[in-house]
Amino acid sequence: MKDIQIFLKYFQRDMNWEISDSNYQETKMSMLNNFMLLSTEVSEIAEEFRSIFNETSDLANEGNLCEDEAFDIAKEKYKVNIGKELSDCIAYLVKFANYFNIDLDESFYTKMDEIRYRKNRDN
Ligand SMILES: [Mg+2]
Repeated sequence: MKDIQIFLKYFQRDMNWEISDSNYQETKMSMLNNFMLLSTEVSEIAEEFRSIFNETSDLANEGNLCEDEAFDIAKEKYKVNIGKELSDCIAYLVKFANYFNIDLDESFYTKMDEIRYRKNRDN
């Protein structure tokens, strides 16, 4: 994760895509804008999933494949696109982490431990 954080720090600086830090109002607008962009990317993952399910139905309805076989083919067809959308999401999440100087390795494993050992595992 550290490598990705460092890569994106410089990548986003080179592209002039950093969260603005000049004053409160500008930073607030920049954070909100980036949050909207992240939300859009999350929706794009849903769109890829929808494509997989539609493709599965189409292939299965054509008659030669059962649903599970059709699903395997559709998953393979959209795998690259899903990787791209997941990467878009990671880029925005890491941008926020970098803005707050959060070490995501530390934060991630601390959070996963918290989840593992908490009493109520439903949330
Ligand atoms: Mg995208």
